[in-house]
Amino acid sequence: MREDDQKPAPQQVDVAIIGGGLVGASLGCALSELIDRHQLSVAVIEAAPLPSLTDASEQRGQPSFDARASAIALGSAQHFMSLGLWEAMAERAMAIRCIHISERGRLGAARLRAEDLDQQAMGYVIPNAWMGQVLHRRLAELPLGWHCPARVEDIQPVAAGHLLTLSDGNRLEAGLTVLADGGRSGLKEKLGIHSQVRDYEQVALITSVEVSHPHKGIAYERFTDEGPIALLPMSGQTMVLIWTHEQGLEKQRMALSDGDFLAQLQCAFGDRAGRFRRVGQRYAYPLSLITAEETVRPGLAVLGNAAHALHPVAGQGFNLALRGVMDLVAALSEGLEQGEPLGSLTTLLDFEQRREADRDGVIRFSDGLIRLFGVEHRLLSHARAAGLVGFNLAGPLRHGLARRAMGVLR
Ligand SMILES: Cc1cc2nc3c(=O)[nH]c(=O)nc-3n(C[C@H](O)[C@H](O)[C@H](O)COP(=O)(O)OP(=O)(O)OC[C@H]3O[C@@H](n4cnc5c(N)ncnc54)[C@H](O)[C@@H]3O)c2cc1C
Repeated sequence: MREDDQKPAPQQVDVAIIGGGLVGASLGCALSELIDRHQLSVAVIEAAPLPSLTDASEQRGQPSFDARASAIALGSAQHFMSLGLWEAMAERAMAIRCIHISERGRLGAARLRAEDLDQQAMGYVIPNAWMGQVLHRRLAELPLGWHCPARVEDIQPVAAGHLLTLSDGNRLEAGLTVLADGGRSGLKEKLGIHSQVRDYEQVALITSVEVSHPHKGIAYERFTDEGPIALLPMSGQTMVLIWTHEQGLEKQRMALSDGDFLAQLQCAFGDRAGRFRRVGQRYAYPLSLITAEETVRPGLAVLGNAAHALHPVAGQGFNLALRGVMDLVAALSEGLEQGEPLGSLTTLLDFEQRREADRDGVIRFSDGLIRLFGVEHRLLSHARAAGLVGFNLAGPLRHGLARRAMGVLR
């Protein structure tokens, strides 16, 4: 007798979502209409304890809902609107009215203004912990099977889809499994899905800083010899700082006293955002571009960071992933109308086709920014400065970039 024959039969579900982070939780919410219309059984398996539904402070140990804040493109805000989540998200969203791009030591600067595009905002900055709370409050209202905290420890393809073995002893058999585990759990590799990895050999240092002047909704992207610095507007006079460092150099900045850190930041960034007065806790994130070589198989879709982890310089990772969530749900909905089973390869290839151009375009865009402005190509600086000046003049190019930043360019 095989060991499996002695275990209780696995629970059958239509959809299993591995990971209840930003992407898995968004997918759960986006499936709500299909759950209703087709009486789908959906399970979400999340390894880290759930975010508190009453306390929106950061979730320690939860990779998605930590102390970061994310730049949410206008297109993503519209998706949240369509899911009925925007009203709650907006309670802590700060509008980005202008994106100011400059290079230290060069004259060129580009400004992308929402008003030039007849918009109120280019996008919004929302604390990740708040997004987690809004998403999980909504999920708690849906008829989902919750497995949390529980880790998917094994995944095996079977005739009906995939068999998942959970750390709490449960087993699930799902017609469609969505891998939204952030790509670090080893499940992709267990399935033999390879990834291309480009280690940027950079580390993003993230914290919040208080500035002396009102930020007026301006987000700054400043390229320095040491790497890009982004400042995103938050409530009051607080801004989120994303300071990219060559690997190793961040250690020294992590260890500085607050006063020395602020002084070095001021020196690197200059005065255009005012004087930096107070700094919050600092966190370090190693950066690489990771792209999965396969994102669909019969009964399997790979989403979010598991499919593509990008450099955060252009604030595109989650925005891209959310468009993936929406396209997956649209493909599933059409497939179901046409009588296709949920995990059908026809449906999933339709999803893959919807994603391809957007995904490749965004990856090229953010990777191109790093190559053009990253720490490794200092010799390009003259060309870059010329490019930035040209940028301010060249309307179509600027508008193209603005539309990409707003997440409305496909
Ligand atoms: C410094 C930084 C700044 C960023 N800023 C922006 C920004 O401004 N705008 C933007 O659009 N994007 C931004 N991003 C990208 C964005 O954070 C990611 O795209 C997003 O977090 C991906 O979410 P995810 O759910 O795919 O993965 P994750 O956030 O990694 O979540 C994966 C989830 O799966 C769970 N899990 C893992 N393994 C298992 C398992 N075996 N079983 C069950 N559960 C499991 C984890 O506990 C976790 O909850 C930034 C990224 C970084 C690093």
